[in-house]
Amino acid sequence: MGTLEFVVDDDRCYGCGACIGLCPTNALSMKELLAIVEQELCTYCDHCIPSCPVDALKILGR
Ligand code: SF4
Ligand code: SF4
Repeated sequence: MGTLEFVVDDDRCYGCGACIGLCPTNALSMKELLAIVEQELCTYCDHCIPSCPVDALKILGR
């Protein structure tokens, strides 16, 4: 299995917060109107991805 990386496109994210509470492992939090991820907690489940109105959440490497 390759290495996956969860990324927040910080040019797109405007801090609406829609994604934050959806993460089952609490990998997402908000810092100064930007969603940030704790990479070690992300299980790459995709659950948060469709919640973002500006398509800022991506999983790279697959
Ligand atoms: S992909 Fe899943 S585990 Fe990773 S941040 Fe989104 S909801 Fe959380
Ligand atoms: S849903 Fe998208 S725009 Fe809203 S905080 Fe999350 S990443 Fe940012």
